Amino acid sequence: MKKPEGKHALIVGRIREGTVIDHITAGEALNVLKILGITGTTDECLSIATNVSSGKVGKKDIVKVEGRELRKEEVDRIALIAPRATINIIRDYEVVEKKGVEIPRSLVGVVRCPNPGCISNTSEPIESRFEVVERGLHCLYCDWLITKDITGHII
Ligand SMILES: [Zn+2]
Repeated sequence: MKKPEGKHALIVGRIREGTVIDHITAGEALNVLKILGITGTTDECLSIATNVSSGKVGKKDIVKVEGRELRKEEVDRIALIAPRATINIIRDYEVVEKKGVEIPRSLVGVVRCPNPGCISNTSEPIESRFEVVERGLHCLYCDWLITKDITGHII
């Protein structure tokens, strides 16, 4: 029997199968769900804990998604808003995989281009494409650079 993982185990409880996203920057839990495409109308069973005390980062948010193992390209998007997040894949109440998030090189269909004239904002069925650069996100269609409030641009 493993030691429970600190206080948060008590706060949100354990799940049988699914994904636990831990060490989310405090206040970003709902944005993490948004970036994952999880909304009130999808059918995942979620537990969310916000502003949990954590020795490492002060306060953090935790999201548990039951019955779904998130894919790497899904979780890597989280790195944009929660670079310290850790992903735990749970099977039969045990952590079978634990990984950090890596900032992806490119984002397709995740962020809306702020340039109204961008081809990705027209009625054309074109998904937005951004490359992740040091200063922010660079639109591959119109060269627009998003340098702040990335969350506000998530589709
Ligand atoms: Zn653009």
